[in-house]
Amino acid sequence: MILESLSLQGFRNYQQAEFEFDPGVNLIVGDNAQGKTNLLEAISYLGSGKSFRAQKTGEMVGFSREFAEISGNVFSQERRQNLRFVLFPGARPRQIWRNGAKKKSAGDIAGVLPTVLFCPEDLLILKSGAAQRRRFGDSALCQLRPNYDAALTEYNRILEQKSRILKDHFENPRLLDILPEYNARLCQVGALLISYRARFYDGLGKAAAVYHNQLSAGAEDFRLEYKTVSTVKDVFAPVAQLTQDLQAHLESHARGELESGQCLTGPHRDDFTVTLSGVDLKAYGSQGQTRTSAISLKLAQRELMAREWGEQPVLLLDDVLSELDPGRQDFVLNQIVTGQVFITCCEPGRFTRLGKTMTIHQGSVV
Ligand code: ATP
Ligand code: MG
Repeated sequence: MILESLSLQGFRNYQQAEFEFDPGVNLIVGDNAQGKTNLLEAISYLGSGKSFRAQKTGEMVGFSREFAEISGNVFSQERRQNLRFVLFPGARPRQIWRNGAKKKSAGDIAGVLPTVLFCPEDLLILKSGAAQRRRFGDSALCQLRPNYDAALTEYNRILEQKSRILKDHFENPRLLDILPEYNARLCQVGALLISYRARFYDGLGKAAAVYHNQLSAGAEDFRLEYKTVSTVKDVFAPVAQLTQDLQAHLESHARGELESGQCLTGPHRDDFTVTLSGVDLKAYGSQGQTRTSAISLKLAQRELMAREWGEQPVLLLDDVLSELDPGRQDFVLNQIVTGQVFITCCEPGRFTRLGKTMTIHQGSVV
């Protein structure tokens, strides 16, 4: 997928701006608060109908503007297509257009301009608690496998019902009659989740290791390991085996769950670890190593999507260069040769051999 051109009107700090992009690397340079991240937000929104930073759609409409318009020409699925969003400040619903035809929902434009974003907050994937990692993994896997998405929704639904039973059984002991049914279903669906995750993390880890190796010029050996409940000895085992493993695990925690009134264990607590040459990244990684690993993960995610769909999603790298040494910066700027890439940075004097550089000043291209 290639975003060939973009036009913004009343979007954030852009009054009216037209962009022509390179099919390779687009380096977007500018001081703080000039509109670099806003531009990436517009591109990502155009492809998904979702903003990675706005709480409300209206936030994206320029101050004192009546509407905002984002329109882009995309080469995708072997033809040129146009996507257009019109956003309003208040409660008025947004408008979505694809090739001149009005669409009901963002689902109708899915697949035309998928993007993968790296932003500074993504460093938390590797540095903070397991919940952040699960969110990253789940959202990537849901995009790749709609059946996983459905299984995850089902799992969470059963888990919520089970939680309610565990909470209320002190007052209403008869609820315990239906608990085994919920446990059985939870193990079945949970086993399915583990099976999907095992394959996904395996592919992701292998692809990320290749990128990390290139980024660090062979200095660090990246390894990702998927972690699930302790009774699962082989995450690649058939789903029936995984179901049994989960049952064994639940049984060993059954008393604890009843006493505490809480769901204690299961794939909803899954995690993954990253080590660099055998050293745990979360505990010991430097800032540059953490950033490099997070970029490698995003590049790997994009690669898995490309394998699935046959086209590279557009890569949006917000503020990646700081904290990277010259070799790692060179990789980001000059060695990501597949698909289209947007890179923002504040430092003047950076350039890319693989495309073009544009400077943004107060919401205009200089
Ligand atoms: P940095 O290098 O600090 O990350 P940046 O170039 O990425 O800077 P952006 O986040 O793209 O900066 O732009 C921030 C500017 O956009 C801020 O000055 C902010 O006030 C302005 N801005 C944000 N939303 C709107 C809006 N709805 N209308 C007008 N201006 C807005
Ligand atoms: Mg920014």
